[in-house]
This record gives sequence, C-alpha cells and structure tokens, in this order.
Amino acid sequence: MPAHSAVAMGEFDLIKRFFTRPTPRAVLGVGDDCALLQPRPGMLQAISTDMLVSGRHFFADVDPRTLGHKALAVNLSDLAACGATPVAFTLALALPEADPAWLAPFAEGMLALADAHGCELIGGDTTRGPLNICITIFGEVPQGQALLRSGAQPGDAVYVSGTLGDANLALTHLLREWEGTEAATSTAAINLSADAMALARARLEQPTPRVALGTALRGIATSAADISDGLLGDLGHILERSGVGATLDTDRALTLMASHQGGANTEAQQSTVLRHVLSGGDDYELVFTAPTSREAAVQAAAQASQSPVTCIGRIDATPGLRLVDRNGLPVANDFLSFDHFV
Ligand code: ADP
Ligand code: MG
Repeated sequence: MPAHSAVAMGEFDLIKRFFTRPTPRAVLGVGDDCALLQPRPGMLQAISTDMLVSGRHFFADVDPRTLGHKALAVNLSDLAACGATPVAFTLALALPEADPAWLAPFAEGMLALADAHGCELIGGDTTRGPLNICITIFGEVPQGQALLRSGAQPGDAVYVSGTLGDANLALTHLLREWEGTEAATSTAAINLSADAMALARARLEQPTPRVALGTALRGIATSAADISDGLLGDLGHILERSGVGATLDTDRALTLMASHQGGANTEAQQSTVLRHVLSGGDDYELVFTAPTSREAAVQAAAQASQSPVTCIGRIDATPGLRLVDRNGLPVANDFLSFDHFV
C-alpha cells in the first residue's frame, strides 16, 4: 500500500513503535517484504488463521489489552488443538485511527501472551479501516504426531479440558446490557454474584489457550478440536471427520460451568446451564478423544500441563450425537452450536 494512504501517525512509525521486536527464532522478522522461518528437521509446520471483527467478535469499546490477548489466544488455541508448539505469527490490522493510547495496551496484551508461549511476531499488514484483527499463526509438530479431527474410534472416551459455558454466559449478559433490555429470564434464572460474573467475563475476554495440554496429548489422543463455536458443534466436527457418533452425559456437563458450581437445582436452571455448556462458544478449551486404555496417560498429560480434564462421554460406531443422564436415560437434544451464517 502507498505510504500516503497510511494511518495518521504514519504506518511505518506505528509498526516500528508497537510491532517491531527482536525475533531470535526467526531467520528474519519485521521489516522486509517477507519474514523467513527455518523449519526444523522432522517437523511439520502447523498453520492457522483467525480473524476478529469489531461488532461481530468483540465490542468496539472492549479493553484493548484484553483484545490483544484474545486475538492471539484464539490462534494459539488452534495450534493447541493440533498438538503443535507455537513458533511465530503475523498480524494484519485495520484501524480506524492510529491512537497510541489504544495501540500501546493492545500490543502489550498481545505480546505478553506471545512471550509466554515463545511465539514471535514476524510480520503483518497495517491499514486504515473498520477495526479488524487477523492473525496467522505458525507452529510445529513432529511428523505423524499432529492431533487431527479424524481419528476418533468407537469405544474411545470423550474428554473436555477446563470449564465450559462461562464465556457464553458473560456474552449473553453483555449483549442484553448493550441492547438495553432486561437480562434474559433464562440467564436470570441462575442468579450470578458479582464475583461469578467477573469470572465469566474473564473467560470471555481473556481465554487461556491449552497449548501445553495439546502437546502433552501427542501420541495419546486419537482426535482433538478446540471449542470455539460450542462443544456440540466442535465435537460434531470430530464425529463427522471420524465417521462415528457419541453419547454424552449431561450430568457431567452440568458440573463444567465454573461460574455456577452446584447451584442449578430447578429444571429451568439446569437447562440454562446445559445450554451454555453444550452450545455456548468462545471457551477455547479442548475436546478430545482417547482409548479408555489410555486413561492414566490422559490424566498424566492433564497434570503435567496443569489443565484439568473431564470425561463426558464415549464414541459410538452409530453416527449422531446422543445425550443421556447419569442413569443412561435419554435427554432431549435441542441445543445448537454457533454458525455465523445461520
Ligand atoms: P509490503 O507493503 O511490502 O507488504 P509493508 O510496507 O506493508 O510491506 O510492511 C512493512 C513491514 O512491516 C513488513 O515486514 C511487514 O511484515 C511489517 N508489518 C506491517 N504491519 C505489521 C503489523 N501490524 N505487525 C507486525 N509487522 C507488520
Ligand atoms: Mg503492506
């Protein structure tokens, strides 16, 4: 892009000031026409792109520090789901204006998470436009060890990491606030304390990508995906790619929401919690499968990576997804997953 169309503070000043840093792992970082990476012998490159659009994936007035964190976190989460180790990323940024008071915390939030994972910012593109953040991330995984969606086998146990549903609960509340309507009866049904709401909001705005768990599951998990669009939808991708079905225990699922432990007593409360857990998106936890004979190895991987995992069901040869309670009795499945185009 020609320099005269750059944002106010100067495209190149901005890149130099906020996005140019030493990149010891890359052969060449920011400043040339291309960055250069040297793949290590025996490694495959794992590559993923995720875009965050203002008004679609985040509120325009969200804290720029948490936005920077989240933009990279969702990309790291894709590497985690693949069992890949982060190496580098590029950042394509459209900005309404070059405001250092916004850019500084945005870059800090993003680069702090990048440093925590040894993932280097090696290039990007910067232009004026409606706020839009697009990151492409590069990771590496030993040949033959990537976790794919296609390997689930009948009899495997289905696991999820961490907690589910809290991000969606926070989003539902924020959307109601933003629209100026009363909190939905369905979410009001499970009264949230200020502490629980803060926890849920942190889950929405600052997800923790499960990178260490993903790499620890190499050679153990038969399939994996990260949960961005809701458990049922993302597990559904595994089932489809693997040509299998699954049965999930809704009583286990009810225990998974961190901001609402143990208080879902009425049927309406239970169904609200289940909806957030099963179809709420934005959790960035992992859903994965492993043979039941590898239970000890799964728990060891969970311990080593400090990522709690819960077994919530099993893979069946019969296609489709069935919900049952703790006694194995069927539970109606009217939960949907998120789709931008429906
Ligand atoms: P070109 O026009 O040749 O694509 P640019 O002039 O857009 O390159 O960018 C100059 C350099 O700054 C390139 O190395 C590019 O990768 C880097 N860059 C641009 N925007 C960003 C950004 N937001 N973050 C990191 N690096 C960036
Ligand atoms: Mg450019």
